[in-house]
Amino acid sequence: MLILNDLKVPIDADDDQLRQIIEKKLKTRIRTFMIRKKSLDARKEPHYVCSVLVDVKNEERLIRRGYKRYLPEQLDPPYQERKETCIIIGYGPSGIFSACRLHFAGYKVIAFEKGKRIDERARDVETFFKTGILDPQSNVQFGEGGAGTFSDAKLTTRIKDKYIDYILDLFIRFGASEKIRYENHAHIGTDEIRKIIARITDHLIKEGVEFHFSEPVIDLIMNDRHEAIGVKTSKGRYDADHILLGIGHSAQETYEMLKRQGVHMEKKDIALGFRVEHPQSFIDARQTNALVKEANEYFLRYKGEKGVYSFCMCPGGIVIPAMSDESSIVTNGMSYAARDSGYANSAILIQVFKEEFEDGLEYLRSIERNAYDFSGSYRALAQNIKDFMNNELYPLQFDSTYPLGTVLYDFNRFFQPADLQILKDAFLDFDRKIPGFIEKGIMIGPETRSSSPIRINRDETCQSVNTKNIYPMGEGAGYGGGIMSCALDGIRIANAILWKHEQIQQKR
Ligand SMILES: Cc1cc2nc3c(=O)[nH]c(=O)nc-3n(C[C@H](O)[C@H](O)[C@H](O)COP(=O)(O)OP(=O)(O)OC[C@H]3O[C@@H](n4cnc5c(N)ncnc54)[C@H](O)[C@@H]3O)c2cc1C
Repeated sequence: MLILNDLKVPIDADDDQLRQIIEKKLKTRIRTFMIRKKSLDARKEPHYVCSVLVDVKNEERLIRRGYKRYLPEQLDPPYQERKETCIIIGYGPSGIFSACRLHFAGYKVIAFEKGKRIDERARDVETFFKTGILDPQSNVQFGEGGAGTFSDAKLTTRIKDKYIDYILDLFIRFGASEKIRYENHAHIGTDEIRKIIARITDHLIKEGVEFHFSEPVIDLIMNDRHEAIGVKTSKGRYDADHILLGIGHSAQETYEMLKRQGVHMEKKDIALGFRVEHPQSFIDARQTNALVKEANEYFLRYKGEKGVYSFCMCPGGIVIPAMSDESSIVTNGMSYAARDSGYANSAILIQVFKEEFEDGLEYLRSIERNAYDFSGSYRALAQNIKDFMNNELYPLQFDSTYPLGTVLYDFNRFFQPADLQILKDAFLDFDRKIPGFIEKGIMIGPETRSSSPIRINRDETCQSVNTKNIYPMGEGAGYGGGIMSCALDGIRIANAILWKHEQIQQKR
């Protein structure tokens, strides 16, 4: 296999044309090719710059002519049967990717997930969206795949890391489109990611990984040196050498259990706000990127005394109820692979500094409960953006896609006066960038679960700073935000365990 870098490709070139470009460059026929990277060069005449892998018959001759052989870095850990047991608590992106890596390296892996497997979970979520009957153990936050399962499954991250390709390759191996490797702002869609995650789990089960769904970990078993040596679940006790905490940011009782056991944690800054929703046709007409053929996205950022930014945009998606606790309201967004709902939604969040609250979890829960008390149901709070700006309250200009309905609410009551001013300045700025953003949009909220208000601190070996054998990871530990960064963190933790193992072996 050869690798060709910096290949200039016209914007509208299809696979046949790309093949011709490669053959012209190599001056020979090729068997197959695969795009590895693709980035847009928008200067002067816009075109793509691609990196492609090419399979040719006469590879040696081309190498003699100066072309390079593709030598992928071997990132899989060396397999070796190991005696140690790793318990993984929580099967979201950090849990999934740490489980894969530790299993591939030869550890005994046991995964506990308080929620259900995807098919059953999807039925529970659907029931909730239709009837408003919430299962606090099986919902948008909890179950196989974690919080990212009912999402847009955007795979964007600003992190540069060699394991990004490793993660994407694993998604592709279990059914994702090859396109996620090279598309800007790649996304999988909730319908596809559900199938992919279920296939990964089935594969791991077949290979001997032990899974316990609907079995929450309710306590840690500690020795007298304050080292964790196992877990207690709703069904039994299990010994472990390493315990990975991939618990996400929504399981309050898990945080309480960790607190009770004295695992060190601290407050961290958060952000909160609401979703905004616009007709997708409005966003498409305003976005200048005519190169994007499907639903357009936007990224908005305003720097006032506090930052205000758009987050987790779902083009062609729907606004969803994302609560895990009864009598509370939390919004979020989700898209199917086709992104064809006709509406665009995104969170608009304002920073909240840790000095502004005592207990972050309780602070967020009280907002969610107050929203429910106002609504008297799971209907979300909603207002036209222009009415928010003018301190008015008129009926919504269009129905939100939020499936449980909305009640009119004046978001001017929601924020402190100083934050209110910053938010209104931010909207004016967004309206300059996307004219009509205020006039054409509605707000639905509250959106409170964009990040964890807690960091479970770890040391240089990636263990809890005061509880040996506990490895906090992912969003709930404050070490990730989003599918890719949490998956990467899961790999980082698995690597730390592998590295510890190597060191012990070397000392022997
Ligand atoms: C609706 C929605 C849409 C999103 N869209 C995107 C997107 O498009 N792109 C993106 O990058 N990110 C998105 N995110 C964020 C992303 O999903 C999270 O950042 C990511 O899932 C966090 O991964 P994690 O492994 O840290 O934890 P989670 O995915 O939160 O998983 C934690 C798991 O731990 C389990 N658990 C907790 N306590 C226990 C216990 N005591 N015992 C057993 N199990 C336990 C929970 O049930 C849960 O399944 C979205 C989130 C939501 C809610």
